[in-house]
Amino acid sequence: MPLSAIGRDAPVRVLFVEDSAEDAELIQAQLEDAHLRAEFVRVEDAPGLREALESFGPDIVLSDLSMPGFSGHEALSIVRAHSQALPFIFVSGTIGEDVAVAALHEGASDYILKHSSARLPMAVERALREARTDAERQRVEQELMRSQRLESLSLLAAGLSHDLRNILQPLLIVPDLIAQRSDDPRLRQLATVVAECGRRGHEMAESMLSFVRGSRRASERCRVADLFHAVQLLLKGSMPPRVRLKVRLADPALALDGNYTELQQCLLNLSLNAIQAMPSGGLLELTAESVDGRVCLSVSDTGAGMDRQTLEQLFTPFFTTKPNGTGLGLVSCKRIVNAMGGQVEVSSRPGQGTRIVLWLPLPGEEAVEVRPVAVAGHGERILLVFREAARLSLVGNALASQGYRPDPVGDGAAALRRWAESGAPDAVVLDNGIALFPAAALLSTMHESGYTGPAIVIEDRAAPFDPSQVPASLPVRCLQHPLDMHRLFAAVAEAIATQG
Ligand code: ADP
Ligand code: MG
Repeated sequence: MPLSAIGRDAPVRVLFVEDSAEDAELIQAQLEDAHLRAEFVRVEDAPGLREALESFGPDIVLSDLSMPGFSGHEALSIVRAHSQALPFIFVSGTIGEDVAVAALHEGASDYILKHSSARLPMAVERALREARTDAERQRVEQELMRSQRLESLSLLAAGLSHDLRNILQPLLIVPDLIAQRSDDPRLRQLATVVAECGRRGHEMAESMLSFVRGSRRASERCRVADLFHAVQLLLKGSMPPRVRLKVRLADPALALDGNYTELQQCLLNLSLNAIQAMPSGGLLELTAESVDGRVCLSVSDTGAGMDRQTLEQLFTPFFTTKPNGTGLGLVSCKRIVNAMGGQVEVSSRPGQGTRIVLWLPLPGEEAVEVRPVAVAGHGERILLVFREAARLSLVGNALASQGYRPDPVGDGAAALRRWAESGAPDAVVLDNGIALFPAAALLSTMHESGYTGPAIVIEDRAAPFDPSQVPASLPVRCLQHPLDMHRLFAAVAEAIATQG
C-alpha cells in the first residue's frame, strides 16, 4: 500500500535509534520503496536521542531493541518522558513474543522484525495515522472545553454585574443627599469620594455587562444540512476507528432560527459525549426531521448508557463522570435549546446506549435574513495587544469565533518581538492603555520598521488616543470602551477589506 494514504504534505520526520548504519539504511530503503516521503536521522545513544527529540522534532521513532551501552527500553522511556503521544516502534532482528508484549505495555506503538519488509511501512503508516487522529480529537475536545468554560464565565459575569449594578445604586444617590444636608466641608469631601467610587464601580459593572452582551450571538436562519456537515467536518479525523457515523436528514431544506455557532457547539458536544461513551466502538447517529410542527434533532449512540443516578444529575453544572470532563456540555446545550424555545429529551439504557433529542421550533414565516454560514474571517492573523489577560482572552476568543487567527500578547514590547519573529499581521488591535508603550508609540515603531497594515485602537475615556501622533499613512480606527463586540467585528472586517 502506498504511504501517500497518510495524506500529508510535509515529509515525515523519522528518527532511528539504531547502532548499525546498514540496518538503518535497509529500513529507510523499505520505507522509501513504499513511497514514504521522509527525512531520516539516526542516533545511537541517550544524549543523541535527547538532542534529536528537541532539534529534529521527529514524527515517529523507530528503535532497535539492544545496542552497545544503550537499550530500546531506555530509548522508549526517554521518548515517553518527552512526549506521550509520539509514535514509537521497536524494530529488532530478534524479538520474542514476551518481549513484544512487554514493549507494548511500556507504551510502544508496535514492534516489528527487521526483515519483515512488508509489515514495516504499514505499521509506520498506522502509527502515524493513529497519532494524528488522537491529536485531532484532543484538539476538538479542548476547544470545546475552553468554550464551555468561557461560556460559564460569561454567564457568571452577567449575573454578577447585574447584581452589582443594583447594589451600587445607593452609592450614586446618597452622597448627593449628604452633601445637600451638610455644610461640613470634610463630610462633603468624603461624600465626593464615596460618589466617585460608586461611579467607578457602576461603570465597571456596565462595561462587564456590555462585554458579555457583545459576545452574545445573533439569531439567523441555519440549514440543518449545513450544521450536520460542519459537525461531520469537525469530527472528521477524530473519529475513533471503530465508531461509525450515520447521518439521516429527511428534508435537505430543513432549517432552524438560531445562532449557528451555538447550535454547532451543541451538536458537537452531544456527538463527542456519544463517542466518549463508546470506547470500544459503535454507531453514532445524527438525525433530523420535522414532526408535528417542530424540528426534531437527535444524537444517539450504542455506548455505555447511563444509570438512574447519572440521568438525574445530567443537567447539573459541573456534573461529570469523566476524569477530564467539564460537566458543562449538557448544561450549555440545554441553555441554548431553551433560549430558542425548545426542549431537550434524554433516553438512555445502561449497556445499550443513549439518545438525546432536541425539540426546536420550526422557523417563523417572516423572512429572517439568510446569512451565509461563512464567518467574516478567513484565518487572517490579528495581533492583539491588551494589558489585561481577561480582556485579551475574551477578545481573542471572540475574534477566533469569527474565523480570524488571534495572536495575543500582553504588552508593547512583546508585540514588537512578535512582529520581528512572525512578520506583519493582517491587522493590529490594541489597547491604548498598554504598559510602557502607549498605542501611538507602538504603532509608530512598527510603522518605522515597515508595518503599513490597519490598526484598531481601543481607547479609554481616561486615556484618549491621539491620532496625530501616528504617521498619517497608517490606517487607524478608534473604538471606545466599553467594547461592543459587534462594533469590533465590523471594524476588523472593514479594516481588512479596505486593506485588501
Ligand atoms: P462532560 O462531557 O464534560 O462530562 P456533559 O455535560 O457533556 O459533561 O456530560 C455530563 C455527563 O453526562 C457525562 O460525564 C456522562 O457521565 C453523561 N453523559 C452525557 N452524554 C452521555 C452519553 N451519550 N452516554 C453516556 N453518558 C453520557
Ligand atoms: Mg461533554
